[in-house]
Amino acid sequence: MADPSSLIRGEIRSIPPYNAGLTLEEVRATYHVDTIAKLGSNENPLGPSPALRRLFSDIGELARLYPDPQGRALCTRLAAGFGVDSRQVILGNGSEDLIGVICRSVVRPGDTVATLYPSFPLHEDYTALMGGRIERVPVTDDLTIDMAALLAAAARKPRMLMFSNPMNPVGCWLTPDELAAVIAALDGETLLVIDEAYAEYAVGDDYPSAIDMLREKDIPWVVLRTFSKAYGLAGLRIGYGIVGDGGLCDFFNRARTPFNTNAIAQASAIAALDDLAHLQQSVTAALEERERMRTALAAAGYRTAPSKGNFLFVDARRNASELAVALLERGVIVKPWKQPGFETFIRVSIGAREENDHFLRAFKDAESMATATPAK
Ligand SMILES: *Cc1c(COP(=O)(O)O)cnc(C)c1O
Repeated sequence: MADPSSLIRGEIRSIPPYNAGLTLEEVRATYHVDTIAKLGSNENPLGPSPALRRLFSDIGELARLYPDPQGRALCTRLAAGFGVDSRQVILGNGSEDLIGVICRSVVRPGDTVATLYPSFPLHEDYTALMGGRIERVPVTDDLTIDMAALLAAAARKPRMLMFSNPMNPVGCWLTPDELAAVIAALDGETLLVIDEAYAEYAVGDDYPSAIDMLREKDIPWVVLRTFSKAYGLAGLRIGYGIVGDGGLCDFFNRARTPFNTNAIAQASAIAALDDLAHLQQSVTAALEERERMRTALAAAGYRTAPSKGNFLFVDARRNASELAVALLERGVIVKPWKQPGFETFIRVSIGAREENDHFLRAFKDAESMATATPAK
């Protein structure tokens, strides 16, 4: 038989498989550890709102019928919350689905998509899938956003400027003034996509309300949000986009599968929005634990980037992939960074207190096993 891979488009063959991290079952089977701190995927240790249990007693009826393909109840709810028209809301099977939908809708072969670097891999992968060209804007040496470079990239009028704010994996963020400068540098030729997967954690006056800043602006824009992180629904796969223009949103809806979000996820998202106390508790716990982790790592002599997310980007000063294996052997899952220039960094999620302590012990223990290379 002829090699079936010759059927596959070159863009797809050039994309590496997504590194989704290990499941608890895989780690148990491979590393023979019982207690595992799963700190590789930025999940919420508190899980979803307890209100979800009620829904699951109705699961038979939710499962039997096709879901509302528009997710109207959820879209109406989100639209009211953000003060936009419900025609400006699009739901995704996770916000990653919407990254794909947007790239399929706007990226033509050879188009440039500018993003921050180190990057969220899917921003690059879905661009590559459409034959687009990624232009990376690296962070500065002190792990903050290089505003001059970002504004220069915006001024070159890419087809799309897409980045996360707070930025995954580093945790840095654009302030209101910086976001205003980016918006001012753009015109109608560029779609601005701000992926706000961690917005709920980003408290404080130094983090902008992008939707408020963009709503009266005459440029095309999308803000992406998710229920996977602070709302604790990563397993149900639901996220959403607020699109500056309802007509543009209609086109994005044509580029998704009709029933991309399921009935259980839609109902669970509404229940999650109803339980503001659970969200606040999740955020407060994460911020307290993040500070405790940062302090402990700093005391041990490790540099972490300032973070507004539920994770820390840590310079382990040794090969991160090797360190990650040593941590797995000690029952801890983290994400070793592999992109050039950042191979000594791990991204560790802020878990429950015991998980974070488990990480700190394992990190120390793994350190004494290997001689760290001296700090730069
Ligand atoms: C986690 C994450 C997502 C994906 O979220 P889902 O809604 O689970 O698909 C998107 N963007 C960034 C930057 C993330 O970190």
